[in-house]
Order: sequence, then C-alpha cells, then structure tokens
Amino acid sequence: MRKQIVAGNWKMNNDLAASKKLAKQVAKKLKKDKVKNTKVIIAPTFVSLASAVKATKKSRVKVAAQNMHFEESGAFTGEISAKMLKSVGVKTVILGHSERREYFAETDALLAKKVDAALANKMNIIFCFGEVLADRKSGNQETVVENQIKNALFHLKADAFKNIVLAYEPVWAIGTGETASPEQAQDMHAFIRKTMADKYGADVANSTSILYGGSCKPTNAKEIFSKPDVDGGLIGGAALNADDFLAIVNAF
Ligand code: PEP
Repeated sequence: MRKQIVAGNWKMNNDLAASKKLAKQVAKKLKKDKVKNTKVIIAPTFVSLASAVKATKKSRVKVAAQNMHFEESGAFTGEISAKMLKSVGVKTVILGHSERREYFAETDALLAKKVDAALANKMNIIFCFGEVLADRKSGNQETVVENQIKNALFHLKADAFKNIVLAYEPVWAIGTGETASPEQAQDMHAFIRKTMADKYGADVANSTSILYGGSCKPTNAKEIFSKPDVDGGLIGGAALNADDFLAIVNAF
C-alpha cells in the first residue's frame, strides 16, 4: 500500500511570524481532520524551519526543507547542510524543484550529489522533475522526465526508494493556474511507475509514492487524486492558506 502524501511548498513566502502562524493553523485544523492516513508535510523557508517544527510538534505534520547543499560543512557561503537541517528536527528535503533547476542552475548531476548526501544522512527526499511547455508541445515529455529520473536517481540501490517520494511537476503548470488534466497526470504517473518498474522491479515501483504538482487547488485536487497512479500532491500557492491546504489534504 503506497503512502498518500500532501506536501506544501511555501517557497520564498512568509516571515518567521507568518510561518509560525500558518504552521500552527495547519496543525490545529489537521487534528479535526477526518483523513487520518494522509501524510502531511509543510516546507517553510530555512529561517522558519525550527519554529515550524516546534509549532507542529504535537501534530502529525512533518516539516521539510526546500533545498540543501551536498557537502556537510565548509566554505559554501549561503548554503545549508543535511546535518544542519537535522539539528533543527527536519528530516525531509525537497530536491530538484523546477525553480531550483531554472533560477539556480541545478543540474541532474548536482541533484544526484544532493540525493546521495540526503540519503547518507538518513533523510527523506521529495524529488521533483517535470517537462517545460516546449517539451510537452513537441511530445518529448516522457523522454525528458525519464532522463531527469535516470540521471539523478538510477545510480541508487532499490532500498533507497524507501526514503524517496517522486513529484511530477510539469513546469508549464507551476504557478500558472494551468493544471495538467487528471488524464495527463495519470498518463505521466503511469509512465514514471513503468520506468521505475523496468529498472527496479514491480515491488519498488508499486510502493513508491508519486505526487502531482502544478496549480493543484481545492477545486481540482479530488479529480487528480482519484487517478490510480497519483498518490498525492506537492502544493505551492494553495499551501499558503490553511483552509485551502486542508481542503486539498481532504480531497482523497
Ligand atoms: C510547486 O511549486 O511545487 C507548485 C506546485 O506550485 P503551484 O501549486 O503554485 O503551481
């Protein structure tokens, strides 16, 4: 049985006070929640991680970082390591988000190093990938996605996938209001699962959660989550409002 997961990527939003408030709201609302088995994750900015961990301590909300460096320490100005994340109680990290790839030149090779570092530190990873609009228009989306997964993850042993969640995020749907249709999401998720099965076998493929991300909202989450290979969502904009986020958590 695969885990159902809804994760909120807060991106570069919310200062310390606003993060604490939103984390508390999510934790409080979740306590009244009827859906007990969906894993709920929030990813505030680095400066708010410790406070969010504290604010959600008595709830089942987990806190993730939005990025990390692959080295443990040293002369890497502005960077944060896995050990530092763990020192504030954060055991999950989002890697490979399209904004990191686009604005911070993160390549598959760099991401492979980050993945290795996170796993070496026994962290859980939400690994993001997805095609840009030009790839979709030219029908190249499967090749692009397959290469992103292979290049950053396929050096790993099967066991590593116990700690990895995949997140398919078509770049053309992120923050644009344009959502992949439930059928487009399902087709790609099925392709991703097949790619995993071809390399690691059916057991690994069938037990790896694959999230959809890209303008997921309370109004479309139910239909997207109803697809057999969609195991939840990575939510950007709609995760900044506790009611919207919880509505998505409850969309299963
Ligand atoms: C994201 O950034 O991971 C994302 C899915 O954003 P949005 O929901 O705003 O499209």
